This record gives sequence, structure tokens and C-alpha cells, in this order.
Amino acid sequence: MLHDSLGVALDDERIKYASKAGEENIPLDWALGAFILNTAAPTYDNSGESGPRVAGLPLHSVVADALREGQWWIASSRSRNPIIQLLRACIPPSSAVNLHSDAPEDRYLWKIGDAAPSNSFSIATIWDHLHPVGVRVDWFESVWFKGRIPKHDFISWLNSRDRLLTRDRLVSWGLLVPSTCLFCNTYDESRQHLFFDCSYSKEVWYYFTSKTHLSPPLNFEDGVRWLKNPCRDKNVAWILRLAYQASVYSIWKECNTRIHTASSRPASAVLMETKTMLRSHLGPLTLKQRVSNPSDTLLVTWFRVFQ
Ligand SMILES: [Zn+2]
Repeated sequence: MLHDSLGVALDDERIKYASKAGEENIPLDWALGAFILNTAAPTYDNSGESGPRVAGLPLHSVVADALREGQWWIASSRSRNPIIQLLRACIPPSSAVNLHSDAPEDRYLWKIGDAAPSNSFSIATIWDHLHPVGVRVDWFESVWFKGRIPKHDFISWLNSRDRLLTRDRLVSWGLLVPSTCLFCNTYDESRQHLFFDCSYSKEVWYYFTSKTHLSPPLNFEDGVRWLKNPCRDKNVAWILRLAYQASVYSIWKECNTRIHTASSRPASAVLMETKTMLRSHLGPLTLKQRVSNPSDTLLVTWFRVFQ
């Protein structure tokens, strides 16, 4: 973490300058401060050759050298240098420093979150700390499933997160844009309307569900959850998930085309394009399928149910 963000190699000599972190309840912040003090060396990009002068310490100082009469010298500094300000923000009480003559050599330890300091470095642990695992959503199988189309899954994921810039969101931010749906020009454009309720969109997405004689929930969020397991036939369920994502992608693409160009297509053309995309995607997927009966493939299911 530190060597990455500060641009210092892990085996850099300066890393050895931090002592006692992890012992006697001394937090890493202290080691961090010491490390940065000693990072103010000629090779440090942000401080360059002025590093030792900025830190006010010779290049090969030890942590104890940062004390003046028992206090961190930096605590009373009024410098606006970012390195100094960072140090002031994170150094622990100066009493943490062992000034006894028999104090051990300075050394550097890693402390990640609330875990005890350690001399072992783990990128995985640091990654997990910097990017904590979010709350598991109950619709992820509808978006992240095997065989999905990458650009479709991304738009679907944004949509499930309600992050697509539909007009209701733009209006809620105070932007002066029309609030009505680009397709029907009757109802306000929201995620629910644009992808589920609008007559234009229904012609695309509901084409696929009508072919299966299934009745998905009308509410957007319920509909996405329903896609996790819409029916017993695994091939039909798989194609429905692909069809949903392809429909969302095609509708959103058409929406943006209308905003940025003068062209527009009827829903039947969007549906035709969506079906073509799906059919061409199912071919390679079918080749990878291991089925005992040739009629159990995705492509056969496609022609039997959806074509
Ligand atoms: Zn509409």
C-alpha cells in the first residue's frame, strides 16, 4: 500500500526506518509517519531533492530523531507542505517512542485496519481493506451469469443499481430537461417506465416472455429478481436472462441515439436487432454446451421457443 502510493519499492532501504509499531499498542499511524519522514528522500516524486529539507531531518535519520525535547518537532510546525500536514494528521503521541538506550532497531510493520501489525505484506488483504465487500444484492445472478454478453451485463448492472441517467434522475438534480419519455412522449421517463411500462419497450422485452407463456412481475426490481429462476427449463431461463439484458441494452441505445441524432427506429426494428444479436451469441455458447441429446442445446431452444 505505502510503497505503491508513495512510489517506493517494497525493498527500499527507507522502509526499515520505523520502529516499535505493533508493540506496546503502538499503532501503524506512527510507523506511517516515521516512514514518510524517511521517504522524504531524493527519489520521492513529491518531495524530490528537497525531501530531507522539507522533513527537517537528515536522510538517514531514525524515528527518535524526529523528537525535540520529547515532542514531535512536526507538531508545532506551521508548514503548509502536504507531507508535513499528512504527518501532523497521523502521528500518535510522542510518548510512543522508545528512547531508551537499549531500544531495538527501527523497523517497519504493516497494519491493515484493526488487525495487529505484521511484518508480512499481503496485497489481497490490503485490497480487501481498501475495497470492502459490499452488501450482497439479491439480484446479482440476473446480471452476472455464465455466458452473458459483456456490454449488456454492464448496462444491466448500472440499471439494477439505478445509475442510468434516466430523465427523472436528471430532473431531480435540477437539470432543465424534458421529463417525458422519449418513446411515447406521454409518461415521465423513469427506469420503471423506460424498460418495463412503456409501450415501446414492451414490444421488445415482452416479446421474449410472451413466447415462453410466462408472466414476469411488472415491477422492475421484482422482475429482475424473477430472472434468477424464471422457469424449470434451464435453456429457456438462460435465454430469458440474455434477452432481458439485450433488451435493456437495445432500448437504452435507441434512447441515446434519439437524443444525440435525428434518427429513430420503430420498436420492431429494435426487436429485430436484439434477436439477431442473441441468435449470433447463442451459436458459440451452444458449441460449448455438453448435452447428451442434440435437441437440448441453446440454439435448438431458441428456434423452438423464441424465433
Ligand atoms: Zn414511454
